[in-house]
Amino acid sequence: MARMFLHTCCGPCFFGVWADLRHNFEVTNFFYNPNIQPKTEYDKRLENLKKVALGRSQKIIEGSYDDRKHQKAILGLETNFPKRCLKCYELRLTETAKMAQKLGYELFSTTLLVSPYQQHEQLKQIGQKLGQAYNLEFYYRDWRPLFRSGQQSAKDQNIYRQRYCGCQWSEIEARKTFH
Ligand code: SF4
Repeated sequence: MARMFLHTCCGPCFFGVWADLRHNFEVTNFFYNPNIQPKTEYDKRLENLKKVALGRSQKIIEGSYDDRKHQKAILGLETNFPKRCLKCYELRLTETAKMAQKLGYELFSTTLLVSPYQQHEQLKQIGQKLGQAYNLEFYYRDWRPLFRSGQQSAKDQNIYRQRYCGCQWSEIEARKTFH
């Protein structure tokens, strides 16, 4: 089986992607998400990913949590959605590519490709650019059709589903939308 180094953002998105990867890949999940605030929310998402992935014998590597790195990455663009997200993708996927290279993987990807709420084309471009820079293959798939079934699986199995993307700014924006 091919080995895949997968940047993973949360349990529900893992569910969606796993439906496609399970037959052909041995997956190592890299939970590198210093964008998630506050830390209690980060812990909750990681804990729920563990329930999903470890239960399917898939590995998880936790990256460092330093939300100052995210704050620095989006500096000046905090209230500028969606531009700030491109910096956020770059931060997380660059660290993923670096780690994949260090650990001897040839393939990397991200569960962010399953979400219809993320900027899909830009993610693809950033992943491909980093693949070239780090001599890796960026495994691109449009996994968005699997999003709803992933969310449903999470619901059925009592896995936490967050209501905002991750950073404090997205939490404020979500609150305005839902209230
Ligand atoms: S909204 Fe999501 S993708 Fe955009 S900067 Fe915040 S955490 Fe990152």
